[in-house]
Amino acid sequence: MADKDGSKINPKKQEIVRLERTDRPAPEISLHGLPEFLPGWVWLTGAGPGDPGLLTLHAVNALQQADCVVYDALVSEDILSLTRAEAELVYSGKRGGKPSLRQEDISRQLVSLAQENKRVLRLKGGDPFVFGRGGEEAQALVQAQIPFRLIPGISAGIGGLGYAGIPVTHREVNHAVTFVTGHLAGKDAPELLDWGAIAQATPVIVIYMAMSRLEAIADLLMQAGRDSGEKIAIVTHATMPEQRVVTGTLGAAAALAAKYNLQPPSIIVIGDVVDLHSELSWFGAAFEG
Ligand code: SAH
Repeated sequence: MADKDGSKINPKKQEIVRLERTDRPAPEISLHGLPEFLPGWVWLTGAGPGDPGLLTLHAVNALQQADCVVYDALVSEDILSLTRAEAELVYSGKRGGKPSLRQEDISRQLVSLAQENKRVLRLKGGDPFVFGRGGEEAQALVQAQIPFRLIPGISAGIGGLGYAGIPVTHREVNHAVTFVTGHLAGKDAPELLDWGAIAQATPVIVIYMAMSRLEAIADLLMQAGRDSGEKIAIVTHATMPEQRVVTGTLGAAAALAAKYNLQPPSIIVIGDVVDLHSELSWFGAAFEG
């Protein structure tokens, strides 16, 4: 199969299989035994990469009790719809081109909502402690003596790639993987990362926040010895109905993103595990560049 510019389209689509089992009642998921959300607490919670089915029971338990939900741009409406009707929803992401709230302001807001004796759910995409500034928010809470709980989430760089049929490790391919953020790569400021060392040391590299710096990142890795023909995959809107997976080569990474007009959020993976995508792809649309 081919799309209009001649690229191959993987015809595999997600299949939803419904089991016809009328002899058994539908299982009920009980949240009993999960903790009570006490007023004055902040629960720093991971919402996962998008699919509401990837929320943990702790996250659902939090959504059902919170008085106030302070949420990021990457948290979907489907997930917010699990909150109580009376819950106050506070958006802390980017608004219409304006920059995000400053981190200090978000932390201060969490502290003051907790001081008003609310049950404050801080809901962040993926895992709060993976490139999510959750650590900084937790430190601010500790400093203000606000009690908190951390609810980990499924990170885009693991679960999102899983939805693209790309295991981040495979016994026959790699025994190490490195997760990096690409959002400042190649800027005039000094590099935050030793791209040369990363390129040499790790067979598989997963890059968050890389879309705007893709060309610079690919150049840095190739200068450090990675082959321009090495496989990469760009996965946009991972785990969501509009998920797309584009595979190609490191040398053509930026051209691929432009050709398919790929938009954030996107996660990028470089290395031989990308080859497994053609075999294991099970969800969403896939394109080969
Ligand atoms: N804490 C998050 C990461 C926050 S940084 C986590 O653990 O996943 C934001 C970056 O995460 C985005 O720029 C993108 O690189 C990645 N990301 C988050 N959700 C994504 C999704 N559904 N699909 C692809 N990438 C995603």
